[in-house]
Amino acid sequence: MEIEFSGAAREVTGSCHILRAAGKTILLDCGLFQGKRSDSDAKNRRLPLPVEDVDAIVLSHAHIDHAGRLPFLVSNGYKNTIFATPATRDLSAIMLADSAHIQEKDAEYLARRSKKAADPLYGMRDAVRTIELMVGMPYEKPFDVVPGVRCTYVDAGHILGSASVILDCTEGGTTKRLVFSADIGRAGLPILRDPVTPSGAHAVIMESTYGNRDHASVEGERAKLAEIVRETASRGGRMLIPAFAVGRTQEIIYELHALARAGQIPAIPIYIDSPLAIDATSVFQLHPDIFDHEEILIRQVQDVFKFNLVTYTRDVADSKALNSATGPMIIIAASGMAESGRIVHHLAHGAPDQRNTILVVGFMAEHTLGRRIVEKQPVLKVFGEEVPLRAQVKILNGYSAHADRTELTSWLGRVRSTSPEMGPVWLVHGEPEAQDPLAESLRSDGYTVSAPEAGKRVTF
Ligand SMILES: [Zn+2]
Ligand SMILES: [Zn+2]
Repeated sequence: MEIEFSGAAREVTGSCHILRAAGKTILLDCGLFQGKRSDSDAKNRRLPLPVEDVDAIVLSHAHIDHAGRLPFLVSNGYKNTIFATPATRDLSAIMLADSAHIQEKDAEYLARRSKKAADPLYGMRDAVRTIELMVGMPYEKPFDVVPGVRCTYVDAGHILGSASVILDCTEGGTTKRLVFSADIGRAGLPILRDPVTPSGAHAVIMESTYGNRDHASVEGERAKLAEIVRETASRGGRMLIPAFAVGRTQEIIYELHALARAGQIPAIPIYIDSPLAIDATSVFQLHPDIFDHEEILIRQVQDVFKFNLVTYTRDVADSKALNSATGPMIIIAASGMAESGRIVHHLAHGAPDQRNTILVVGFMAEHTLGRRIVEKQPVLKVFGEEVPLRAQVKILNGYSAHADRTELTSWLGRVRSTSPEMGPVWLVHGEPEAQDPLAESLRSDGYTVSAPEAGKRVTF
């Protein structure tokens, strides 16, 4: 049995691993490479292998760095099944449609700039066709991916529907268990259950995004969030939160709902100003069965995303009207790094007012407006105009959807403690600066561990 590491090898994006077992070939994820446009475009356009060689695909979750290249495979003729959890299938429907839209816009932009036609990586038709190939499989129910390879999804606690993947591969009467962690979440994240750890592994592919650092605890963040809301409201200011439409937005709504119910924040209006976030919230509402039923709010409230303070604005006119509204309020809008989307016009309007707060709840990559806000640059460039940054900037890192160094190490420790025949561990989905110290520390803990380069093949 062989694994070939194709994407997210020594980097975070483009998750894709090729499993050859029982005479068949299975892809684990096929995500988009993201980053510098020219580099990632070339990588995205290279197929991991000829599509006719792929017998089945097993998808771990709907994030675009895991699912985003599936429509490209489909546009190249892939016709077999794509397995996913039901919530991943539903989230993929809106995320791949959004991605197709971005691909089409990107191609138009490139064509305008270079004056020659550029093909989008894929279009809306391919995204729709991809969803048609997806079959929803629930957690903890084993199913055959191909004869000889049996899969079980367990909840990874990372985003709605996210799974770690257990693959029991049988060849010549011997069965070996490969565990693919995919992206591992954190205990205590709002709405989501805590990650479930697979057992009985012979070999493990583990993510390592934050292999070199620890986050603040999730519980501590709720109290800090409440304090920031109270301070902003007492100044009569507005709070602007750039957030990814899927996942982070619903978590923040949930946290604000819990705080409002507990009387820990004043009753100020909350606007969710993002059509994609509204669609994503409806997908969440379709899957309350997989919420964390240990959480008080989920036990007490039927619809955790609807309460008297919250308004969802879909129309552009309603979004713009918020600029002339007065009094304290909270506005949550995409995109997460404030590079595009409605949050940009809210920032242009709100950044010069010292009563306001810009709350950063996610990672801001280099060269983004979000990063310039984190760096508190005194003057921001927005829509080509200079905008003074006088609003308060507050940062909450604890809502990260990824396990940190300590959590990754203890996840792997729990796998090992239930795996008498534990074999090699391969680190993926991490940059060298995160992977190398993690590998070092795991090695000293007795693991056989490596961080394979793209193209590397290993057997187990
Ligand atoms: Zn993810
Ligand atoms: Zn990922």
